Amino acid sequence: MHRGGHIALGYDYVIRHLEIVPNWEHWPVSPQGRPWTLPGPRRIPPQVDIHKPSAARVYDAILGGKDNFPWDRAVAAEVIAAFPQAATSAMLNRQVLERAVRYLHDQGIDQFLDLGSGLPTARNTHEIAQELNPRARVAYVDNDPIVLTHARAQLVDDAATTVVTADVRYPDTILNSPAITAFLDFSRPIGLVLNGVVHHLNDDEDPHGVVTKLTSALASGSYLQLTHFSTAAPAAAALERVLMRSIGSGRMRSAGEITAFFDGLELVDPGVVFLPEWRPDRPLAYPLEIGGQLLLGGMARRP
Ligand code: SAM
Repeated sequence: MHRGGHIALGYDYVIRHLEIVPNWEHWPVSPQGRPWTLPGPRRIPPQVDIHKPSAARVYDAILGGKDNFPWDRAVAAEVIAAFPQAATSAMLNRQVLERAVRYLHDQGIDQFLDLGSGLPTARNTHEIAQELNPRARVAYVDNDPIVLTHARAQLVDDAATTVVTADVRYPDTILNSPAITAFLDFSRPIGLVLNGVVHHLNDDEDPHGVVTKLTSALASGSYLQLTHFSTAAPAAAALERVLMRSIGSGRMRSAGEITAFFDGLELVDPGVVFLPEWRPDRPLAYPLEIGGQLLLGGMARRP
Protein backbone atom coordinates (compact mmCIF):
# COMPACT_ATOMS: atom_id res chain seq x y z
CA MET A 1 0.00 0.00 0.00
CA HIS A 2 1.26 3.45 -0.85
CA ARG A 3 1.68 5.62 2.24
CA GLY A 4 -0.13 8.49 0.53
CA GLY A 5 -3.72 7.32 0.52
CA HIS A 6 -6.47 4.97 -0.44
CA ILE A 7 -5.98 5.14 -4.19
CA ALA A 8 -2.86 3.01 -4.06
CA LEU A 9 -4.87 0.13 -2.71
CA GLY A 10 -5.78 -0.65 -6.28
CA TYR A 11 -8.55 -0.56 -8.81
CA ASP A 12 -10.66 -3.28 -7.18
CA TYR A 13 -10.52 -1.64 -3.80
CA VAL A 14 -11.49 1.73 -5.24
CA ILE A 15 -14.39 0.28 -7.18
CA ARG A 16 -15.72 -1.65 -4.18
CA HIS A 17 -15.41 1.27 -1.78
CA LEU A 18 -16.64 4.18 -3.81
CA GLU A 19 -17.32 6.44 -0.88
CA ILE A 20 -13.98 6.28 0.87
CA VAL A 21 -12.01 9.48 1.31
CA PRO A 22 -8.31 9.97 2.00
CA ASN A 23 -6.97 9.66 5.48
CA TRP A 24 -5.67 13.17 6.05
CA GLU A 25 -3.63 12.20 9.08
CA HIS A 26 -1.17 10.28 6.95
CA TRP A 27 -0.95 12.70 4.07
CA PRO A 28 2.27 14.71 3.87
CA VAL A 29 1.85 18.38 4.64
CA SER A 30 3.09 21.57 3.04
CA PRO A 31 5.96 23.54 4.61
CA GLN A 32 3.28 25.58 6.37
CA GLY A 33 1.96 22.44 8.02
CA ARG A 34 -1.23 22.25 5.97
CA PRO A 35 -2.23 19.31 3.79
CA TRP A 36 -1.51 19.72 0.10
CA THR A 37 -5.16 19.38 -0.73
CA LEU A 38 -8.17 20.83 0.96
CA PRO A 39 -11.71 19.51 1.09
CA GLY A 40 -14.06 21.39 -1.22
CA PRO A 41 -17.81 21.48 -1.74
CA ARG A 42 -19.22 18.33 -3.31
CA ARG A 43 -21.42 20.12 -5.83
CA ILE A 44 -21.66 18.75 -9.33
CA PRO A 45 -22.24 21.39 -12.00
CA PRO A 46 -24.60 20.16 -14.73
CA GLN A 47 -21.98 20.29 -17.46
CA VAL A 48 -19.61 17.97 -15.59
CA ASP A 49 -19.82 14.33 -16.66
CA ILE A 50 -18.93 12.32 -13.57
CA HIS A 51 -18.85 9.11 -15.61
CA LYS A 52 -15.90 10.33 -17.63
CA PRO A 53 -12.54 10.76 -15.88
CA SER A 54 -10.99 14.23 -16.15
CA ALA A 55 -7.35 15.25 -15.83
CA ALA A 56 -8.16 17.75 -13.09
CA ARG A 57 -10.07 15.23 -10.98
CA VAL A 58 -7.60 12.36 -11.53
CA TYR A 59 -4.79 14.69 -10.40
CA ASP A 60 -6.89 15.73 -7.40
CA ALA A 61 -7.37 12.05 -6.52
CA ILE A 62 -3.65 11.38 -6.82
CA LEU A 63 -2.95 14.33 -4.53
CA GLY A 64 -5.37 12.85 -2.01
CA GLY A 65 -8.14 15.42 -2.58
CA LYS A 66 -11.82 14.59 -2.44
CA ASP A 67 -13.12 16.58 -5.41
CA ASN A 68 -13.22 13.52 -7.63
CA PHE A 69 -15.56 10.70 -8.59
CA PRO A 70 -15.29 6.90 -8.87
CA TRP A 71 -14.04 6.90 -12.47
CA ASP A 72 -11.39 9.46 -11.61
CA ARG A 73 -10.27 7.36 -8.66
CA ALA A 74 -10.19 4.26 -10.84
CA VAL A 75 -7.86 6.03 -13.29
CA ALA A 76 -5.78 7.34 -10.39
CA ALA A 77 -5.36 3.75 -9.23
CA GLU A 78 -4.29 2.72 -12.73
CA VAL A 79 -1.82 5.59 -12.84
CA ILE A 80 -0.31 4.46 -9.54
CA ALA A 81 -0.17 0.87 -10.74
CA ALA A 82 1.83 2.04 -13.78
CA PHE A 83 3.94 4.57 -11.90
CA PRO A 84 3.86 3.89 -8.14
CA GLN A 85 5.58 7.18 -7.30
CA ALA A 86 2.89 9.28 -9.01
CA ALA A 87 1.68 10.89 -5.76
CA THR A 88 5.22 11.99 -4.96
CA SER A 89 5.54 13.42 -8.47
CA ALA A 90 2.29 15.34 -8.05
CA MET A 91 3.44 16.82 -4.76
CA LEU A 92 6.81 17.76 -6.22
CA ASN A 93 4.91 19.49 -9.03
CA ARG A 94 3.00 21.50 -6.42
CA GLN A 95 6.19 22.29 -4.52
CA VAL A 96 8.05 23.58 -7.57
CA LEU A 97 5.06 25.82 -8.31
CA GLU A 98 5.51 27.41 -4.90
CA ARG A 99 9.23 27.99 -5.48
CA ALA A 100 8.50 29.38 -8.94
CA VAL A 101 5.89 31.85 -7.70
CA ARG A 102 8.29 33.02 -5.00
CA TYR A 103 10.99 33.46 -7.63
CA LEU A 104 8.63 35.45 -9.83
CA HIS A 105 7.70 37.69 -6.90
CA ASP A 106 11.42 38.31 -6.29
CA GLN A 107 11.70 39.43 -9.94
CA GLY A 108 8.96 42.00 -9.34
CA ILE A 109 6.13 40.03 -10.97
CA ASP A 110 2.80 40.98 -9.45
CA GLN A 111 0.38 39.49 -11.98
CA PHE A 112 0.06 35.84 -12.85
CA LEU A 113 -1.73 33.92 -15.58
CA ASP A 114 -1.99 30.31 -14.41
CA LEU A 115 -3.25 28.06 -17.22
CA GLY A 116 -4.45 24.54 -16.48
CA SER A 117 -4.54 25.60 -12.85
CA GLY A 118 -6.42 22.53 -11.63
CA LEU A 119 -8.79 22.10 -8.73
CA PRO A 120 -7.97 24.35 -5.79
CA THR A 121 -5.63 22.64 -3.37
CA ALA A 122 -3.50 23.98 -0.56
CA ARG A 123 -0.82 26.50 -1.52
CA ASN A 124 -2.42 27.70 -4.72
CA THR A 125 -0.72 30.32 -6.87
CA HIS A 126 -2.82 33.19 -5.50
CA GLU A 127 -2.16 32.18 -1.90
CA ILE A 128 1.59 32.06 -2.44
CA ALA A 129 1.68 35.29 -4.47
CA GLN A 130 -0.68 37.27 -2.26
CA GLU A 131 1.10 36.17 0.89
CA LEU A 132 4.19 37.89 -0.54
CA ASN A 133 2.32 40.80 -2.12
CA PRO A 134 -1.31 41.29 -1.12
CA ARG A 135 -1.88 43.31 -4.30
CA ALA A 136 -0.71 40.52 -6.62
CA ARG A 137 -3.36 39.55 -9.17
CA VAL A 138 -3.88 35.97 -10.30
CA ALA A 139 -6.02 34.76 -13.20
CA TYR A 140 -6.67 31.04 -13.29
CA VAL A 141 -7.74 29.26 -16.46
CA ASP A 142 -8.78 25.64 -16.82
CA ASN A 143 -10.91 23.86 -19.39
CA ASP A 144 -12.63 21.68 -16.80
CA PRO A 145 -15.79 23.47 -15.61
CA ILE A 146 -15.56 21.76 -12.24
CA VAL A 147 -12.45 23.87 -11.57
CA LEU A 148 -14.50 27.03 -11.99
CA THR A 149 -17.18 25.82 -9.59
CA HIS A 150 -14.77 24.82 -6.86
CA ALA A 151 -12.53 27.84 -7.32
CA ARG A 152 -15.45 30.26 -7.19
CA ALA A 153 -16.69 28.64 -4.00
CA GLN A 154 -13.32 29.32 -2.38
CA LEU A 155 -12.60 32.74 -3.86
CA VAL A 156 -15.75 34.62 -3.02
CA ASP A 157 -13.93 37.30 -1.05
CA ASP A 158 -10.91 37.63 -3.26
CA ALA A 159 -11.07 40.52 -5.72
CA ALA A 160 -7.45 39.99 -6.74
CA THR A 161 -8.10 36.50 -8.13
CA THR A 162 -10.27 35.37 -10.99
CA VAL A 163 -11.11 32.05 -12.63
CA VAL A 164 -12.02 31.55 -16.26
CA THR A 165 -13.05 28.39 -18.10
CA ALA A 166 -11.10 28.25 -21.36
CA ASP A 167 -8.97 25.88 -23.38
CA VAL A 168 -5.21 26.29 -23.67
CA ARG A 169 -5.36 24.67 -27.11
CA TYR A 170 -7.01 27.87 -28.31
CA PRO A 171 -4.71 30.55 -26.91
CA ASP A 172 -6.48 33.37 -28.77
CA THR A 173 -9.64 32.73 -26.80
CA ILE A 174 -7.65 33.24 -23.60
CA LEU A 175 -5.67 36.24 -24.83
CA ASN A 176 -8.84 37.92 -26.14
CA SER A 177 -11.09 36.99 -23.25
CA PRO A 178 -12.46 40.19 -21.68
CA ALA A 179 -12.38 38.44 -18.30
CA ILE A 180 -8.61 38.11 -18.70
CA THR A 181 -7.73 41.33 -20.52
CA ALA A 182 -9.74 43.45 -18.09
CA PHE A 183 -8.09 41.72 -15.16
CA LEU A 184 -4.41 41.55 -16.16
CA ASP A 185 -2.41 44.40 -17.68
CA PHE A 186 -0.68 42.93 -20.72
CA SER A 187 1.44 46.09 -21.15
CA ARG A 188 3.30 45.08 -17.97
CA PRO A 189 5.22 41.86 -17.16
CA ILE A 190 3.14 38.80 -16.35
CA GLY A 191 4.19 35.46 -14.89
CA LEU A 192 2.73 32.82 -17.22
CA VAL A 193 2.37 29.56 -15.32
CA LEU A 194 2.03 26.34 -17.32
CA ASN A 195 2.54 23.90 -14.49
CA GLY A 196 1.75 20.38 -15.59
CA VAL A 197 -0.64 21.31 -18.39
CA VAL A 198 1.23 21.32 -21.71
CA HIS A 199 1.62 17.53 -21.62
CA HIS A 200 -2.17 17.49 -21.98
CA LEU A 201 -1.74 18.95 -25.45
CA ASN A 202 -1.24 16.20 -27.98
CA ASP A 203 1.29 16.44 -30.80
CA ASP A 204 -1.38 17.25 -33.39
CA GLU A 205 -2.54 20.17 -31.23
CA ASP A 206 0.67 22.12 -31.87
CA PRO A 207 1.84 22.47 -28.25
CA HIS A 208 4.97 24.43 -29.22
CA GLY A 209 2.93 26.83 -31.37
CA VAL A 210 0.46 27.31 -28.53
CA VAL A 211 3.19 28.18 -26.01
CA THR A 212 4.88 30.56 -28.46
CA LYS A 213 1.57 32.28 -29.13
CA LEU A 214 1.03 32.78 -25.42
CA THR A 215 4.54 34.06 -24.64
CA SER A 216 4.49 36.36 -27.69
CA ALA A 217 1.53 38.19 -26.17
CA LEU A 218 3.49 39.03 -23.02
CA ALA A 219 5.41 42.24 -22.32
CA SER A 220 9.20 42.28 -22.09
CA GLY A 221 10.24 41.21 -18.60
CA SER A 222 7.49 38.60 -18.39
CA TYR A 223 8.29 35.01 -17.47
CA LEU A 224 7.19 31.55 -18.58
CA GLN A 225 7.20 28.80 -15.97
CA LEU A 226 6.52 25.29 -17.29
CA THR A 227 6.63 21.74 -16.00
CA HIS A 228 6.08 18.71 -18.21
CA PHE A 229 6.06 14.89 -18.17
CA SER A 230 9.44 13.56 -19.25
CA THR A 231 10.37 10.46 -21.24
CA ALA A 232 13.33 10.05 -18.88
CA ALA A 233 11.35 8.53 -16.03
CA PRO A 234 11.33 4.76 -15.65
CA ALA A 235 7.89 3.49 -16.71
CA ALA A 236 7.11 6.80 -18.43
CA ALA A 237 5.87 4.90 -21.48
CA ALA A 238 3.54 2.74 -19.38
CA LEU A 239 2.15 5.82 -17.67
CA GLU A 240 1.62 7.54 -21.00
CA ARG A 241 -0.37 4.53 -22.24
CA VAL A 242 -2.65 4.66 -19.18
CA LEU A 243 -3.23 8.40 -19.51
CA MET A 244 -3.82 8.40 -23.26
CA ARG A 245 -6.27 5.52 -22.97
CA SER A 246 -8.17 6.88 -19.96
CA ILE A 247 -8.25 10.66 -20.44
CA GLY A 248 -6.92 11.05 -23.97
CA SER A 249 -3.90 13.18 -23.06
CA GLY A 250 -0.67 13.00 -21.09
CA ARG A 251 2.28 13.00 -23.45
CA MET A 252 5.79 12.29 -22.24
CA ARG A 253 8.31 14.47 -24.10
CA SER A 254 12.08 14.46 -24.30
CA ALA A 255 14.29 17.05 -22.59
CA GLY A 256 14.94 18.57 -26.02
CA GLU A 257 11.25 18.88 -26.81
CA ILE A 258 10.56 20.40 -23.40
CA THR A 259 13.46 22.85 -23.65
CA ALA A 260 12.08 23.95 -27.03
CA PHE A 261 9.03 25.40 -25.25
CA PHE A 262 11.39 28.13 -24.01
CA ASP A 263 12.73 29.00 -27.49
CA GLY A 264 13.15 32.75 -27.93
CA LEU A 265 13.23 33.31 -24.17
CA GLU A 266 16.14 33.61 -21.71
CA LEU A 267 16.29 30.46 -19.59
CA VAL A 268 16.84 31.13 -15.92
CA ASP A 269 19.38 29.00 -14.02
CA PRO A 270 19.49 26.04 -13.61
CA GLY A 271 17.66 25.55 -16.94
CA VAL A 272 15.33 22.67 -17.67
CA VAL A 273 15.83 20.12 -14.89
CA PHE A 274 13.96 17.52 -12.86
CA LEU A 275 11.62 19.35 -10.50
CA PRO A 276 13.52 18.71 -7.24
CA GLU A 277 16.57 20.27 -8.92
CA TRP A 278 14.84 23.55 -9.75
CA ARG A 279 16.09 26.04 -7.14
CA PRO A 280 15.62 23.64 -4.22
CA ASP A 281 15.06 25.02 -0.74
CA ARG A 282 17.40 22.46 0.77
CA PRO A 283 20.33 20.32 -0.40
CA LEU A 284 19.35 17.48 -2.72
CA ALA A 285 20.12 13.83 -2.20
CA TYR A 286 21.26 11.83 -5.23
CA PRO A 287 20.25 9.63 -6.90
CA LEU A 288 16.97 11.47 -7.20
CA GLU A 289 13.94 9.54 -6.06
CA ILE A 290 12.01 8.04 -8.99
CA GLY A 291 9.02 10.31 -8.35
CA GLY A 292 11.33 13.26 -8.88
CA GLN A 293 12.17 12.06 -12.38
CA LEU A 294 8.68 12.14 -13.87
CA LEU A 295 8.61 15.82 -14.76
CA LEU A 296 11.07 18.34 -16.05
CA GLY A 297 10.57 22.03 -15.51
CA GLY A 298 12.07 25.42 -16.08
CA MET A 299 11.56 29.16 -16.11
CA ALA A 300 12.51 31.73 -18.73
CA ARG A 301 12.30 35.50 -19.17
CA ARG A 302 10.88 37.24 -22.21
CA PRO A 303 13.56 39.66 -23.39
N1 SAM B 1 -1.42 23.36 -12.71
C1 SAM B 1 -1.87 22.52 -11.63
C2 SAM B 1 -0.69 21.96 -10.90
O1 SAM B 1 0.41 22.01 -11.44
O2 SAM B 1 -0.85 21.45 -9.79
C3 SAM B 1 -2.76 21.40 -12.15
C4 SAM B 1 -2.11 20.44 -13.11
S1 SAM B 1 -3.19 19.11 -13.60
C5 SAM B 1 -2.00 17.84 -13.85
C6 SAM B 1 -3.58 19.57 -15.28
C7 SAM B 1 -4.68 20.57 -15.38
O3 SAM B 1 -4.72 21.06 -16.72
C8 SAM B 1 -6.07 20.01 -15.11
O4 SAM B 1 -6.73 20.82 -14.20
C9 SAM B 1 -6.77 20.00 -16.45
O5 SAM B 1 -8.16 20.20 -16.36
C10 SAM B 1 -6.06 21.14 -17.13
N2 SAM B 1 -6.10 21.05 -18.59
C11 SAM B 1 -5.84 19.98 -19.37
N3 SAM B 1 -5.97 20.29 -20.66
C12 SAM B 1 -6.32 21.59 -20.70
C13 SAM B 1 -6.63 22.49 -21.75
N4 SAM B 1 -6.57 22.08 -23.02
N5 SAM B 1 -6.97 23.76 -21.45
C14 SAM B 1 -7.04 24.15 -20.15
N6 SAM B 1 -6.76 23.35 -19.11
C15 SAM B 1 -6.41 22.08 -19.38
